[in-house]
Amino acid sequence: MKLLVTGGAGYVGSTCSARLVEAGHEVVVLDDLSTGHADAVPAGARFVEGDIDDVAGEVLAEGFDGVVHCAAKSLVGESMENPAKYWHGNVVTSLNLLDAMVRHSTPRLVFSSTAATYGEPESSPIAETATTRPTNTYGATKLAIDHAITSYATAHGIAAVSLRYFNVAGAHGELGERHAVETHIIPIVLQVALGQREQVQIYGDDWPTEDGTCVRDYIHVVDLADAHLLALEHAVPNEHRIYNLGNGTGFSVKQVIDTCREVTGHPIPAVVAPRRAGDPAVLVASSERARADLGWKPERADLTTIVQDAWTFTRARAGA
Ligand code: UDP
Repeated sequence: MKLLVTGGAGYVGSTCSARLVEAGHEVVVLDDLSTGHADAVPAGARFVEGDIDDVAGEVLAEGFDGVVHCAAKSLVGESMENPAKYWHGNVVTSLNLLDAMVRHSTPRLVFSSTAATYGEPESSPIAETATTRPTNTYGATKLAIDHAITSYATAHGIAAVSLRYFNVAGAHGELGERHAVETHIIPIVLQVALGQREQVQIYGDDWPTEDGTCVRDYIHVVDLADAHLLALEHAVPNEHRIYNLGNGTGFSVKQVIDTCREVTGHPIPAVVAPRRAGDPAVLVASSERARADLGWKPERADLTTIVQDAWTFTRARAGA
């Protein structure tokens, strides 16, 4: 297939692009490099630097079999402080992309959505039937896009799939997490192991979980990318299917830190700090529907593999 990957210079998008190239697809990456990195675009992909709003139509006019839409603003805190950036950058831009797909009869869409569309979970693990009541602007914008995709798929025959997931982690060789300001637990802990930070703060150890720290669903970025590929293959015209992707039962913050200690051999000092606003105790997605319909299952589900791959990437980037 000839595929356009928006945000293909970012963490998830670059790994998706790489896996699609490895699977023999023709890949064009469209990215404005606002948060991505030109050197993350895989060698086998063509790179178009630009805004979706400005150039998606021109690019899609070439004729494509599908779009993998990974481009997004994705920081929860920033989305609360600067909603315009998220409503315009996520929703308006995605509408422009959908309009361009309709104009140029692009038949398939896989949207990299988020389990933040559900909000505070009423039960765990979270199924696709759960109520969608996002608790932050980021989740609200992704949910709005999902609603738009449903309408466009029905009206214009697009075969669409949205993938909703929580914490992406790990790396694909030289492709990994490179955020200007790091807020995610695994990269932060690995920065401690590299000597770039003194210690890690555990945001609360009095949560109603087994060891008192928050439990999250860490999914390996390669497993996630492979789900995008399967979604492209299984998408059905006129339908918008939604799949949650999860790794299983989830891992606690303490488990993450312990695994990082084992993998890196560094003591990684940790201190307990106050809870972070907006953090639920447990976020775990049920991926039963994706397993049944797409034949997807995480192949790199154990935390050691996830941390090992992130560590190899982190060390290589730091020249350590
Ligand atoms: N966390 C932590 N210390 C940190 C960063 C994160 O204890 O320095 C916790 C956070 O409270 C959450 C989990 O680690 O329970 C994962 O947080 P992250 O920001 O990586 O992802 P999120 O679950 O917020 O998407």
